[in-house]
Amino acid sequence: MKITNITVQTFRYLSNTVRDAEGHGHPGPEHEATQSLTTIHTDEGVKGYCFGGITKGVLEGILKPVLVGHDPFFREQHWQELKARQRLNLATLHDRVLTTVDMALWDLAGRYLEQPVHRLLGAMREKVPAYASTMCGDDLPNGLATPEDYANFAIWAVKERGYPAYKLHTWQPPYPNAPSVKNDLAACAAVREAVGPDVPLMLDPYHYYSREEALALAKGLEALDYLWMEEPMDEHSMSSYVWLCEKTRLPICGPETAEGKMFTRAEWIKAGACDLTRGGVWDVGGITPLMKIAHLAESFGMRMEVHGGGPGNLHVLCAMGIKGEFYER
Ligand code: MG
Repeated sequence: MKITNITVQTFRYLSNTVRDAEGHGHPGPEHEATQSLTTIHTDEGVKGYCFGGITKGVLEGILKPVLVGHDPFFREQHWQELKARQRLNLATLHDRVLTTVDMALWDLAGRYLEQPVHRLLGAMREKVPAYASTMCGDDLPNGLATPEDYANFAIWAVKERGYPAYKLHTWQPPYPNAPSVKNDLAACAAVREAVGPDVPLMLDPYHYYSREEALALAKGLEALDYLWMEEPMDEHSMSSYVWLCEKTRLPICGPETAEGKMFTRAEWIKAGACDLTRGGVWDVGGITPLMKIAHLAESFGMRMEVHGGGPGNLHVLCAMGIKGEFYER
């Protein structure tokens, strides 16, 4: 089988998600949004799909020359080739392009063999518990404006919707008076009080706190028996995470958004910058590298908590030999 073409189709749809100045999604009025679908075509008629856009320059200048005429089952070779091409093209050939291509190739293999992708990877489980992951606080009607709002929403998520665990994303700019360690801890305490001692809770706060602010948060969460905290500081400063891990017994989960695929995760584990490693298909360049990170974590006796939802992350969770405790929803 040979790849014959790669196409990108952009379409419009109605959405209720609006973006604030920092790019966070919030519920909002219905409006028209756009999305793209990338399709890899073959000479045997089978196709692979992934939602994600690719610029015309990258499509024509890099992806088609690398992929067209080649076997779609050579996923590792294609991923390595695109990774190598990133060196002088990183602004346009970023990791999300690698993710889109890799996921479309996995999708193609699954369709061709009529098997779900986690079975192609080597299945470990068929079900994964999901945690309710809030969006960061807002000031919209019925939004997450106060610690009590987070607590009420947690009760609804756990009692009404059956989520076994809950993660807060607390207030960030441009929300007024954000960020605030004091307000974050008030929200975390209100949620712990509301759901009781047995529900696993996690925090994902503002990402640019100082070392001292991150430590104050960690100490507060130790007392509230939280399961982990992620990304309280700029992840480009690995030393800050080493410093934090040395000073708290709260598990620190990361890196999530730092560039560098499996290489960055390896350095963080080696340096003692995290207690749980982290990655999602959209952070590291696809299913292919995320499985490498799962194996890396397993080799160090460490858990990997998968970042974000979607089918790629779910397939990895179902194929990992180690426990990623939860699917993020
Ligand atoms: Mg996060």
